[in-house]
Amino acid sequence: MGSIPTAGGSVDSTALGRTLVHEHVFVLGEEHRLNYQHDWRESEMLHQAVSDLTDLKSRGIDTILDPTVLGLGRYLPRIREIARRVELNIVVATGLYTFNDIPMQFHYKGPGLLFDEPEPLTKLFVSDLTEGIADTGVRAAFLKCAIDQPGLTPGVERTMRAVARASTETGAPITVHTNAAEQTGLIAQQVFREEGVDPRKVIIGHSGDTKDLDYLTRLADAGSLLGLDRFGLDSFLSFDDRVGTVVALIERGYLDHIVISHDASCFIDFWDPAAQKAQLPHWNYRHISDDVLPELRRRGVTDRQLETILVDNPRRYFE
Ligand SMILES: [Zn+2]
Repeated sequence: MGSIPTAGGSVDSTALGRTLVHEHVFVLGEEHRLNYQHDWRESEMLHQAVSDLTDLKSRGIDTILDPTVLGLGRYLPRIREIARRVELNIVVATGLYTFNDIPMQFHYKGPGLLFDEPEPLTKLFVSDLTEGIADTGVRAAFLKCAIDQPGLTPGVERTMRAVARASTETGAPITVHTNAAEQTGLIAQQVFREEGVDPRKVIIGHSGDTKDLDYLTRLADAGSLLGLDRFGLDSFLSFDDRVGTVVALIERGYLDHIVISHDASCFIDFWDPAAQKAQLPHWNYRHISDDVLPELRRRGVTDRQLETILVDNPRRYFE
């Protein structure tokens, strides 16, 4: 039990229902959008998001966790407006998304830097979690950082430790973007361990991009949740392997460590939308409900086990 802030107001953790743990609404660079995204139509984009999320709710999903933080175009007034118009809960995050460097806004200030002060990142993250984001009144409910192929660069490490400290200070859980091929989840776990973070409060995001069960069970044995959270991103791992990995983990006794999602969005500016649709036709909010759950049932996963994955495990993440 516990009250979880969402973009549409607080809900009890028991009322989160079926939860996809990693879905974006919009991923974009705001500065890029203002200068180069000439086809952006605000009201059309809002309408599209409301339509997509209403459709997702009608497929039985009650909540999404949206880990769109600084570096991915977080803009809460937009999300709050969408939350007002959909029944589905949108739980928002704080943190920073970088594979390499710290943004210039933090480059010169912090412990031992030109402007020597306590870590400003931690302060901002804690404020987002406890007071609210900007002047929206919406509080973040979880933290996000990333460690990809470049590994633990100075910027990534500084971000990760700031996220960890905000977690231990507030009790908020963490989602970390990892590169499964490079096994960077293990590095994240090590840094979090050093900072005293409870590993059970960590989702190792994008773990589902590999079928390496030795790696995955190592992460789970240390206590973390495995984010099998890129269903539909079949260029990284096939549908068959993604589903097969869920089944194999359940068979080995790791049901309580599995959370699922798509890492999809209504709009992402990383590539051309038409090219995305052609190359990744299943990468959308509907794929789990329409294709993944039926296939898991066909392979012997029970409805009770699916409820554990969709309801119980995400709820425990917040409790
Ligand atoms: Zn993501």
